[in-house]
Amino acid sequence: MRDVLRNMEEYDHEQVLFGYDKVSGLRCIIAIHNTTLGPALGGLRIWPYKNEDEALFDVLRLSRGMTYKNSGMGLDFGGAKSVIIADPNKEKPEELLRAFGRMVESLGGRYITAEDVGSTLEDMMTIRKETKYVAGLPETSGNPSPVTAYGVLQAMRATAKHVWGNESLENKKVAVQGCGNVGLSLIEQLIQAGATVYAADMFENKLQRAVKAGAIPVEQDKVFDVEADIFAPCALGAVLNDETIPKLKVKAVCGSANNQLLEPRHGKALAARGIVYAPDFIVNGGGVINVAEEFAPGGYNKERAYKKAAGIYDILLKVFAIATERKIEPYEAAKVLAEERIRKALEQKRMYLGR
Ligand code: NAD
Repeated sequence: MRDVLRNMEEYDHEQVLFGYDKVSGLRCIIAIHNTTLGPALGGLRIWPYKNEDEALFDVLRLSRGMTYKNSGMGLDFGGAKSVIIADPNKEKPEELLRAFGRMVESLGGRYITAEDVGSTLEDMMTIRKETKYVAGLPETSGNPSPVTAYGVLQAMRATAKHVWGNESLENKKVAVQGCGNVGLSLIEQLIQAGATVYAADMFENKLQRAVKAGAIPVEQDKVFDVEADIFAPCALGAVLNDETIPKLKVKAVCGSANNQLLEPRHGKALAARGIVYAPDFIVNGGGVINVAEEFAPGGYNKERAYKKAAGIYDILLKVFAIATERKIEPYEAAKVLAEERIRKALEQKRMYLGR
């Protein structure tokens, strides 16, 4: 087992809860990274991790990412994430999810869970039986993907403004990797905005949906070679690496996938090739904006969620401005923006309120 406390120190975590349930065999980890801005919000990943070390590494990294994302989006939520070690396609009995729900409840609202890779809206409804600290239920904010895709489109407009001096996406060529929930919606919106879209997916049926929407199909591993203006990773993380970066023939990267850079140094590698990288956790913040809306006074309001997601345009321009001013890369500037907000909130908390 890894040295947990040393890892918490390294990542600057507040609390890590390891949960086990005898009845269902649940093995989960909930990592609360930072609650300066408010209760920690972040999804539940159900994944067949090879071992506990792998699960711990993932949950620590992902929860820190949520602190940055929530802060960057201007939300009053801290960052957390949870993982259940299980195969989402095999073992998801009700007792397992209910036992997880009880773990969440035991944190008394310090952590709010939601959907992520391997967990579904239906799973959230089961977890809801044990705790009210669940977001993204079908009867409230529901599927976040259309809002995420809308946010990515706003980020692309800001990227175009930064790179070409004009926010229009008309006649821009965009290569989209992944035609899933976010990718397909983004493709539809891009075509509507007058862009030419190249699309790739590992599944033919997913690709055909994109073709039907007007995209030009590209073979799965040729998507990095497309001569285009923007590359939009909307499939997996770690796609920007030593192998793929030299192939890219674009001026910018802007897509929904989480953790696109394999390592931070790949942000520098993109810059060295003259490619502008729009930081993923700013670009794909529409999803968490949508979920956070559930907690706004008066409850979830779709129109307001879209309006806030439109704000990603200005947030990203601010990130580019910080990068230029401080002579750093945009992915570093995005962290500066997020950390600055947390630092200010922390300082204001010095005033005793007697509660
Ligand atoms: P999804 O599973 O619906 O879609 C992913 C698509 O990528 C699938 O169609 C899959 O076949 C395809 N794919 C996987 N590997 C591929 C490869 N190597 N080459 C080509 N295609 C490949 O997922 P999604 O909800 O659309 O999310 C896409 C990405 O955006 C993920 O990284 C997710 O973490 C991130 N994200 C999603 C949201 C959201 O609201 N759904 C919010 C924030 C971030």
